[in-house]
Amino acid sequence: LGSSREKNGRRILVFVRVRPLAKKETEAGARCCVRIVDRRDVYLTEFAAEKDYLRLKRLRGRHFTFDASFPDSASQQEVYSATTSELVEAVLQGRNGSVFCYGATGAGKTYTMLGTVESPGVMVLAIKDLFSKIRIRSCDGNHAVHLSYLEVYNETVRDLLSPGRHLVLREDKQGIVAAGLTKYRAYSTDEVMALLQQGNRNRTTEPTRANETSSRSHAILQVLVEYRVRDAAMNIINKMGKLSLIDLAGSERALATDQRSIRSLEGANINRSLLALSSCINALVEGKKHIPYRNSKLTQLLKDSLGGSCNTVMIANISPSNLSFGENQNTLHWADRAKEI
Ligand code: ADP
Ligand code: MG
Repeated sequence: LGSSREKNGRRILVFVRVRPLAKKETEAGARCCVRIVDRRDVYLTEFAAEKDYLRLKRLRGRHFTFDASFPDSASQQEVYSATTSELVEAVLQGRNGSVFCYGATGAGKTYTMLGTVESPGVMVLAIKDLFSKIRIRSCDGNHAVHLSYLEVYNETVRDLLSPGRHLVLREDKQGIVAAGLTKYRAYSTDEVMALLQQGNRNRTTEPTRANETSSRSHAILQVLVEYRVRDAAMNIINKMGKLSLIDLAGSERALATDQRSIRSLEGANINRSLLALSSCINALVEGKKHIPYRNSKLTQLLKDSLGGSCNTVMIANISPSNLSFGENQNTLHWADRAKEI
């Protein structure tokens, strides 16, 4: 995969992950509508239950190809290794990277990013890998790893490691930073899962559905790696790499993939940060000089992690259920577009 990035000069790699059918779905009579072939090709089938024959015919056999596609049997480790391990290596060389999970609510974004204690996800596996790579590289404590975990909800930024506070975004020499954001110095992997789980519990919940994370909440884990190197004249130089791991809000209400539909959705109480992310991706796809990072809190925070020389990974999460056919199609269409960056 590293070579695929280098070979075609692409800065963004796009993956798809299908989660298993849930018991609830099977019981409701759901059938699997997604087939993955050769770990790359995704076939989406609509079942004959639809009334409209023409529509059925048009949708049947929709086919997409991605850098890799993971069936429901893929393990967390497999997903991590194929999507993110390369970015961890790059961060240790001072290059920024970002990994996004995109998809409808219930499609498996949080499972992929955070996972469970038994099956930790990309966030935890990335930190684990980072520590083991640092251990191989240096025994002199040359590297410092700091974690920040924050939420963008309804265009306010909150610190998930120190809940309650609203953070103000400020521009400084390093770019856009959330003033007062907790930077947790991490020394080992052991503490990290508990820390992130607690942070995840601090995400905004829907007023009507207690304990359930709002589908409009974006969670961003920033992993900052600071280290020192010596130049030819033996002077010490401080270097830094940043990895951003992002569990995006549910995409079910932001289906826009072109600028016109994005504009028509604005003001319709649609997640502004998700729309702004789509706009930035559109601008990057079209090779525009001006990328509209300023339009939302999420895109401001990700300014140094999207485009430019940054390595980006998108993981599109989909449900296998035929009841999610429309959402899946939208997610795959969006991911297909992102491939062009
Ligand atoms: P999202 O964050 O996109 O709303 P979740 O990650 O919460 O979705 O996933 C919805 C449900 O499906 C959860 O109960 C989760 O544990 C389960 N799930 C998602 N992906 C997988 C997977 N790959 N393997 C097993 N269970 C999964
Ligand atoms: Mg979630």
